Amino acid sequence: MSTSPSEPRNAETPHTLQVQAQYFDGRSARAHDVTLTLADSVLSLRGAAVQRDEDISMLRISEPMGRAPRLISFADGAHCEVRDHAGMERLLHATRFTDSWVVRLQQRWRWAAAAAGLAVAVVFTGYHWGLPAASEFIAFRLPDSVLAQLGSGALGTLDRAIFAPSKLPANRQDALRASFARLLPPEGSQARYALHFRDGGPVGANAMALPDGSIVVTDQLVALARHDEEILAVLAHELGHIDRRHGLRMLIQGSIVAFVVSWYIGDVSSVAAGVPTLLLQARYSRDHEREADRYGAVMLKANGISPRRLADMLALLEAAHRDKAQKAEEGRQKEPGKAAAERGTERGSIGDYLASHPATRERIDTLNQGH
Ligand SMILES: [Zn+2]
Repeated sequence: MSTSPSEPRNAETPHTLQVQAQYFDGRSARAHDVTLTLADSVLSLRGAAVQRDEDISMLRISEPMGRAPRLISFADGAHCEVRDHAGMERLLHATRFTDSWVVRLQQRWRWAAAAAGLAVAVVFTGYHWGLPAASEFIAFRLPDSVLAQLGSGALGTLDRAIFAPSKLPANRQDALRASFARLLPPEGSQARYALHFRDGGPVGANAMALPDGSIVVTDQLVALARHDEEILAVLAHELGHIDRRHGLRMLIQGSIVAFVVSWYIGDVSSVAAGVPTLLLQARYSRDHEREADRYGAVMLKANGISPRRLADMLALLEAAHRDKAQKAEEGRQKEPGKAAAERGTERGSIGDYLASHPATRERIDTLNQGH
């Protein structure tokens, strides 16, 4: 902003307003009579032995309190005392100092609050909506070659860590494969799958869908079922997970979170190493389970099988895993030392069917209502 004295603006008020004050240099107690003027936010002091110009933003100006002089404090310890309150008020007001200062501060607060609110909103929507949406977007655009790689890696990891080769006779495996292959998937379903049988070992009766379309069914689940349609019902449910790419989406979501966190921490390479872990820790959301249940129910009905078969199998699985948990708890009470070790391995495994399949009771009711 120009401060040329020929400008008419300057002739109007700021330069013409003067206020008398006393200046103390902060080193001696001597008071200097000075005249204050204010122009373009620069406060000028003029006196017999004083000539000082300071930007007003560098000064602290006390609020008027009764008859006490207002203090204008300088950074170097000097100060002015102003007894002419009305004149001081006019001076500050004429340059709109008071207004703009208050307004500026208010605006700054408003901006800070808005920025904080925005940050919270971004993180919240990002996590609850944006992240799943981004994961879904990516999941449905990944080429099959990438899926195949992810899946084979995953099954390999699970085989090394948890599973043993299936003890089901080959003809029993083939019969189940053929039964499931005969079922028509729901209209529009693109899901491609490959069915694998494994001895579940520590995970017991279980079934899971891997990102590449591999469905793993444990011998224990086959043994638990009272009817083959119950096994087919679980397979239909797992096919629903594959069709909606739930596992892949969880994996991508976990990777994004891990990437962002490690980027923030500064160690991106750990993300790649962590992919198998992410896969094992993946938990489907309730929405994913509902979606897979709906898919399974539609598929079963279209092929003349009651969705109750899925509800029955869920109930069997829940009961079996509750028994298992109870036995483990009893074992723990008998042998506390061994128990701690067991707990460690259990926590790291994908085996907890109830944890990976939440709200079983609610799902059973929904399926039974549906028929
Ligand atoms: Zn599921």
